[in-house]
Amino acid sequence: MSKESLLCRHCGKNILEHQGLIVFVRGMRLGKIVDVYGCCRGDCEAALKESRGGKEEIAFSIEVADVKEPWKFYEYAVGLMDRLYQGLKIDKAAYKKLREMMDAAAPQVFGWKEQDKYAK
Ligand SMILES: [Zn+2]
Repeated sequence: MSKESLLCRHCGKNILEHQGLIVFVRGMRLGKIVDVYGCCRGDCEAALKESRGGKEEIAFSIEVADVKEPWKFYEYAVGLMDRLYQGLKIDKAAYKKLREMMDAAAPQVFGWKEQDKYAK
């Protein structure tokens, strides 16, 4: 499991342990999400935003603190399903990053242990 996907892209801190954000970047010409990353709120958020240039914009971001409880994580996941159904476009690489983040976060949010995965 890749815990790296939960590290701030700017400073490398774990976004579950620090006030983190999950940021969705939209390519303006393509009109779809082209990148998803985690970062700390504040300086890291600003530095990463600046580095994008004029062709991409922050589409939306999610406060990690808002999705750390199991039921909130679930609501967020289902909410994303709804947005995709309603036509939110996301490219393959960005979707893969999002999946990796959710896969890495779920065991921590739900308190799963690796051995639980195979237990019946
Ligand atoms: Zn950071």
